[in-house]
Amino acid sequence: MDGIPLIMKYTLPAEELYKPFWEGLKRGEILGTRCKKCGTLYFPPQKDCPKCMASDMEWMDIGKVGEVMTYSIVLQKPQGFENFSDYTIGIVRTEKGIDLMCWVIGTPKVGAKVFLTSDGQRVLCKVRS
Ligand SMILES: [Zn+2]
Repeated sequence: MDGIPLIMKYTLPAEELYKPFWEGLKRGEILGTRCKKCGTLYFPPQKDCPKCMASDMEWMDIGKVGEVMTYSIVLQKPQGFENFSDYTIGIVRTEKGIDLMCWVIGTPKVGAKVFLTSDGQRVLCKVRS
């Protein structure tokens, strides 16, 4: 059976603006931005606060631990991932209330506690054993 070609590409505008995010990933930190005016934390990072319209944002760790809300084991890989072994993608809610999609390392189940880290390029969630 032929697979259906899919192309998924993130284009983050103004690379300089997101430099702290990419540098954070290299250190194993997942950074979002927090509005200094109303305190709302955003991931992916936002330049402006959609809630209060302020533009005074600071970089902040979105949390080191989280909980698996749901997950999916990928058997039929999309374009660019054909050579990977089967892998698991999860939706994790961090201790700071941020929901994000990540690559799950280990055997997940809904409600499992995970540590958030990075391999320098991707957000990884390691299931606590
Ligand atoms: Zn705000």
